Amino acid sequence: MKKKIYEGKAKVLYQGKEPNTIIQYFKDDATAFNNKKKATIPGKGVLNNFISELIMTRLNDINIPNHFIKRLNMREQLVHKLEIIPIEVVIRNIATGSLVKRLGIEEGKILSRPIIEFYLKNDELNDPIISEEHIIVFDWASHEELESIISISQRINDFLTGYFYSQKIRLVDFKLEFGRFWENQEMTIMVADEISPDNCRLWDLQTNEKLDKDRFRQDLGNVDRAYKEVAYRLGVLSEKEFKKVLKNDI
Ligand code: ADP
Ligand code: UDP
Repeated sequence: MKKKIYEGKAKVLYQGKEPNTIIQYFKDDATAFNNKKKATIPGKGVLNNFISELIMTRLNDINIPNHFIKRLNMREQLVHKLEIIPIEVVIRNIATGSLVKRLGIEEGKILSRPIIEFYLKNDELNDPIISEEHIIVFDWASHEELESIISISQRINDFLTGYFYSQKIRLVDFKLEFGRFWENQEMTIMVADEISPDNCRLWDLQTNEKLDKDRFRQDLGNVDRAYKEVAYRLGVLSEKEFKKVLKNDI
């Protein structure tokens, strides 16, 4: 029996066999608006497990440290256990979502350069937006750590923009989490959590059709079809393989 460490909105964390590892189990549950809206999207967990595996592996290929070790099965992956930095880093290329709502910027405006924003990871406070000053003064991360988080985020944005573009997908914005990994008294900042249509906005290059969690947030329908479309375009799972997975109801 695996020891459950934590159950969140989209994933369950279990203790891994090897020390300092954890198993991320990807659920089909979807939530939005700080847990006010909930649903189950059949197969979402499988698709996110595969998509996140692919992206983390590609990041590893270009030397961007991240927690991914290996995929264990359809819904689980083994990752390094990190000390999570309590910040959500959002990188934006095109104005939409809370940026448009908060600042009245025109929806769909292509930004003159990417914007990085920070939010405090705190559901009770509704993940408020924070500044770099808050992060340093309240010791959520050191100055050095923050520099490294910003430069890694910019590299990921440049890389993923091109990667998705080659599959005719526009990377509109996305959210990253980071953590500290300790080894032989040395600390490395690593990318944590997942990178998937749950935390990226992805629009079809030609039609601007939304291929991400906004389909759920905005009741646009065909949420599962959109996630599958991303998985197929990235080549992580064929439609045939995915149907087999669902039949066994994994
Ligand atoms: P939430 O906690 O927001 O409901 P999830 O259901 O996705 O979100 O839960 C996953 C949790 O695991 C998140 O709180 C995330 O910060 C944490 N996490 C992700 N990667 C790691 C890691 N490598 N080590 C420790 N915790 C992690
Ligand atoms: N995001 C996320 N988790 C959050 C908030 C945002 O993954 O708790 C992602 C979201 O999917 C989008 C980006 O961060 O890709 C920017 O989201 P925004 O601030 O516009 O949030 P909204 O309030 O519109 O969800």
